[in-house]
Amino acid sequence: MGAHILVVEDEEKLARFVELELLHEGYEVSKAANGREALDTAVAGHFDLILLDIMLPGLNGLEVLRRLQQYNPTPVILLTARDAVMDKVAGLDAGAVDYITKPFAIEELLARIRVALKLHGKISSAAASQRKEEDVYRWGKLTLSEKRHQVIYDGHEINLTNREFQMLETLLKNQDIVLSRDMLLDKVCGFDYVGETNVVDVYIRFLRSKIDEVFGVKMIQTVRGVGYVIKSGT
Ligand code: CA
Repeated sequence: MGAHILVVEDEEKLARFVELELLHEGYEVSKAANGREALDTAVAGHFDLILLDIMLPGLNGLEVLRRLQQYNPTPVILLTARDAVMDKVAGLDAGAVDYITKPFAIEELLARIRVALKLHGKISSAAASQRKEEDVYRWGKLTLSEKRHQVIYDGHEINLTNREFQMLETLLKNQDIVLSRDMLLDKVCGFDYVGETNVVDVYIRFLRSKIDEVFGVKMIQTVRGVGYVIKSGT
């Protein structure tokens, strides 16, 4: 049996067209025509990939993506309108692996699906072969699980964006090592990012507002003129 793909698209003709093409390629296909249905279907079933239209009635695709990312590691390819640059950025930030602009050639969609399935397959088998302890980082009452993409403080789940999560993970992995803004920027935005390093300060502020301020701790410390550190003994 081929990979199982969930197609979330409210335009019935397009959804049907994509479904037929995917079936023809040997994939198993389920469909959802709005955001709520997409969430329910995705949570109830096991999918290898989700094709998610952004412009959906009711709950839009980005909102569906954000909610899915909280407990579902299924790779998502977004279907976006031609000029919706902010949607693409927001979508990738929220954890989509790729996006494709409408109208698209079916060959291009099929190629991107193959790449996403291949990449995700590799990543999950690599993650599975790692020792379990390597997957979890701790600081005081805080636990970060890489595989589940989940941060819990004293039983309370903390909702972080992808970049906040990566920033926190980098600091937790390197406890007691002061990381410069440049290093953190590389980790979180990619080494080819050409922006301001004060982006890092912004994410640190978000993290502090979600963790330090809520739980009354001082987790992330500023080292003036150098960067940031989480100290293991504090
Ligand atoms: Ca639509």
